[in-house]
Amino acid sequence: MSKPNVRIVYNSIVPRLMFAEGVTIYPFIFIKASKLKAHPVLLAHEFIHILQVHASGWLKFYLTYLWDYARLLCKFKGHEWAYLNNPAEIEAYKYQWNTSHLFHSVNIVKEYNVDE
Ligand SMILES: [Zn+2]
Repeated sequence: MSKPNVRIVYNSIVPRLMFAEGVTIYPFIFIKASKLKAHPVLLAHEFIHILQVHASGWLKFYLTYLWDYARLLCKFKGHEWAYLNNPAEIEAYKYQWNTSHLFHSVNIVKEYNVDE
């Protein structure tokens, strides 16, 4: 399977709106921090979501993600547990430390640094 193309947007407002450090909306990764301050493990975590979308398809991944989130929100009655127990997040948190492998598994085609 070919490497997925990724576009990374730093200093982005998108994660701020979702109270997150990073958000992946394939093929874009939105990072709250600047490029200089962005943590490699955070990027590796988002790369896993890129690979998940690449493997299952855009619509299937995001519908499954939202369904799991809604289901877990009813179960745990709180965002934090619903988020952390999402199977896509469990996988991402498990493998995010393998940064060197993950940085080689995607194709970064463009990086944007949004001015503040
Ligand atoms: Zn995640």
